[in-house]
Amino acid sequence: MARILVVEDEPRLALTLQLGLADEHHAVDVVRDGREGWARAVGGPYELLVLDVMLPSMDGLELCRRLRASGSAVPVLLLTARDATGDVVAGLDAGADDYLTKPFAFEELVARVRSLLRRGGGAATERVTVGPLVVDRAAHRVWRDGEEVQLTAKETQLLEALARHPGSVLSKARLRQMLWELDMEPSSNAIEVCMAGLRRKLDRGRSTPLLHTQRGLGYVLRWDDPDADDDPGGGP
Ligand code: CA
Repeated sequence: MARILVVEDEPRLALTLQLGLADEHHAVDVVRDGREGWARAVGGPYELLVLDVMLPSMDGLELCRRLRASGSAVPVLLLTARDATGDVVAGLDAGADDYLTKPFAFEELVARVRSLLRRGGGAATERVTVGPLVVDRAAHRVWRDGEEVQLTAKETQLLEALARHPGSVLSKARLRQMLWELDMEPSSNAIEVCMAGLRRKLDRGRSTPLLHTQRGLGYVLRWDDPDADDDPGGGP
């Protein structure tokens, strides 16, 4: 799963992109205005921008140019109007990574998104191993002790978010921000419910847990290898 910002002012296309990309397990935010898109994109938590060229208040090319000038390397997929060859050239000049000409087949968009995310994230980071746990972020599959574990979509997103920063505490607020769209407020205990499901499937019945709660701070995915503890004076 990736955090994607869609900047598109045409309501129907925006909705199609939002629903379709969410279906592909991505967390998607949509804004319809160039200036707002710029405000969200710069320094935002996004791994990819899907950016329309013709936008109110600031066009996509200007947004892209500003983004690159700010030092951001976030991949940008530009949506250009048909027959606007000049837009394509200008878009690539402005720092866009790829483009699609409207109208496009959704499968085509999904393929481009996948390719850009792979480029941005680096192939090596798609499969994360934490002790006996393997998380394949490209295939959205999870194994513990060599056995595949079936997770819900949200559990998978939560685990992938934690697996991106093994050993680091992620706050509930940050996780909520990563897993849910801006305008979709999940119930207050949504993260807790998701976490309980993950624990039941990954840690229940095991002597060494992978998922830890840092009280008042958040959650951390960490493997404390029981075999590594050979301190002769350890324990009372
Ligand atoms: Ca437009």
